[in-house]
Amino acid sequence: MAISKRNLIFLGAPGSGKGTMAAALREVEPLAHISTGDLLRDEIKRDTALGREAAGIMKAGGLVSDDIVCGMVRNRLAQPDCANGFILDGFPRTIAQAEKLTEVLAELNKKLDAVVNIVVEDEVILTRLTSRLSCRGCSEIYNKISKKPKVEGVCDVCGGELYQRPDDSLETAQQRLAVFYKNTQPLIDYYRERGLLVDIDKEEVPEKLEQLLAALA
Ligand code: ADP
Ligand code: ZN
Repeated sequence: MAISKRNLIFLGAPGSGKGTMAAALREVEPLAHISTGDLLRDEIKRDTALGREAAGIMKAGGLVSDDIVCGMVRNRLAQPDCANGFILDGFPRTIAQAEKLTEVLAELNKKLDAVVNIVVEDEVILTRLTSRLSCRGCSEIYNKISKKPKVEGVCDVCGGELYQRPDDSLETAQQRLAVFYKNTQPLIDYYRERGLLVDIDKEEVPEKLEQLLAALA
């Protein structure tokens, strides 16, 4: 089933499964995946000036400056692979970023088709975040409880090493959740008022994907 809404934002609390849903959608539709968290972690890995600036903030569960993330997103959206559609995962996270995004999209002659709101109960989120494992190689996401890799500590996809992100500790996860409620949750109403919001509230990934494909048809 082909979708007609292809320029997308995935909105949701940390640990709501934005990355997982993005991967599931991309198995059916070749959309570019733009995760600002992954872009920032890549800067840190390469030890760039930008990465050094972001590392401390991320470790504490805070938000990296709007200028930095908006600049990164702008460059990424201008790449040719975004012409066929994109998923913004973890961006925007503030109203200011949302307004900047509107400008950037206008400059690039693009328009937003839908904002996917991944609804998850609060209690589920902390457990999920603190049991999450990520691949150093390809950023695939696992879970110590619900999505174990075939071989402990090793990525099924690329054979890379699995690790717990430093910001998935309980303390930082709580802080990230607080930041989400304060800064990012207002975006739900912001985009609902603009008629762009699509709520995805099914529990299991296959049903979620079905609901998502229907909404983007
Ligand atoms: P999650 O959605 O699980 O919290 P991400 O990988 O999206 O994780 O983000 C990890 C961290 O990177 C955030 O806690 C924040 O410090 C930083 N970050 C990512 N995206 C943004 C953004 N759009 N604005 C500001 N900071 C960001
Ligand atoms: Zn991997």
